[in-house]
Formats: sequence, C-alpha cells, structure tokens
Amino acid sequence: MDDRKGMLIVVSGFSGVGKGTVIQLLIDSLPHLQFSISCTTRKPRVGEENGVNYFFLSEEEFESKIAAGEFVEYTKTFTNYYGTLKSEIDKPLAHGVDVLLELNVVGARNIKEMYPDSVTIFITPPSIDVLKARLIGRGTESPESIARRLKEIEIESKEIEHYDYCVTNNIARSCADKIVNIIRSEHLKVSRQNVKKLFDAEA
Ligand code: 5GP
Repeated sequence: MDDRKGMLIVVSGFSGVGKGTVIQLLIDSLPHLQFSISCTTRKPRVGEENGVNYFFLSEEEFESKIAAGEFVEYTKTFTNYYGTLKSEIDKPLAHGVDVLLELNVVGARNIKEMYPDSVTIFITPPSIDVLKARLIGRGTESPESIARRLKEIEIESKEIEHYDYCVTNNIARSCADKIVNIIRSEHLKVSRQNVKKLFDAEA
C-alpha cells in the first residue's frame, strides 16, 4: 500500500435518493476512504452537525472563502452556496487516501474537468415515483422546497449520461456494495498502479 494513489470519487444523486445512508455504509466499509466535508450556507437539518455533515457558514463567511481562493469548486443553487474546500481533498490524496465527494451535477462536472481520473457515480432511485414519495415522507422540506427539488431532479436527469457509473439505490447495502466494487476495480486499473515497481525490485 506504500505507493497507493489516492482517488477522487464523486457521488451525485437526486435529492431524497438516500445518498447519505449509502455514503455512511461506504465510509464504514472502506478504511482508505475519507468523506470531504463541504461548506454550505444552507441551515442544518435536524440531526445534522457542523463539521460532520457540512461546515455550516453564513453567506459572508462563504464569500470570504471564495475571495481567499479556498474552494476547489463551488456552486450556488436556488438559495444556497455549496463548496468543496481544497484542504479537504489535497492532504488525503497526497497520503494515498481516497476522497469521497458528494456533489451536485455542476460540481461533478467541474471536478471531472479538473481531475480527469476522478470516478463519478450517479445514484438513481428505482423509479421517480419512489423518489417523490421519499422526498415528501422525509417531512423536512416545505412544499416550495419540494417543488424546487423536483425541478432540480428534472434538470439533473439530463446529466446522468456524463457520469462514469450509474447505480440504483433500491436497498442501501447492495447499492453501497456495488460502489465498493467500483472503487476496488478502479484501483486495479493499470493506469493507477505503479507497474514499473515490479522491475525495480529486480535491480
Ligand atoms: P443538500 O442540501 O440536500 O445537503 O444538498 C443539495 C445538493 O448540493 C446535493 O445535490 C449535494 O450533492 C450538493 N452538494 C453538497 N455539497 C456540495 C459541494 O461542496 N459542491 C457542490 N457542487 N455540490 C454540493
């Protein structure tokens, strides 16, 4: 594992698809995987903690980090900023640790452009009806917010074809297992391995 190269893994998915549960299972399954904690100006939902789910910032705090060049990417949705701090990805990657980013489609596209060897994965629901029911059942969103998120779903669905992988989340455990397989296979790609090392050992 000495010369293991850290890999960027980007996970996206429609709001309410259950990304959070799948991501937690991935973190629990893979010791070399670290979740990149994003910054946001969105208010915390019940159960969310600052420095765990997100760094929750005011708009002024977020904008001063933009000015200081602290983000590798950021985006503004209808009402909130979301952004990935350079510090959340540079250090782990340099130490051979994989970094998992949960990003919207804009962020995923930007990261793929900047890091072409990143792995992008889109999580889909079994059907759009299942997703709508989950979103409403979550009980954390106002009717306006649900309407906004449904509009986002329509826009985001057009971006799926640009992802490397698409995985259905029917049962979180099996969705996570599929993503674990993707990550393990990606690490076996010749381009990610130091094959020359085989011959160095002979010398
Ligand atoms: P939520 O408010 O439901 O936590 O997230 C809303 C959207 O923002 C989701 O699609 C999520 O993946 C995305 N998101 C979270 N953090 C970031 C980030 O740092 N950058 C970008 N571009 N999108 C993010």
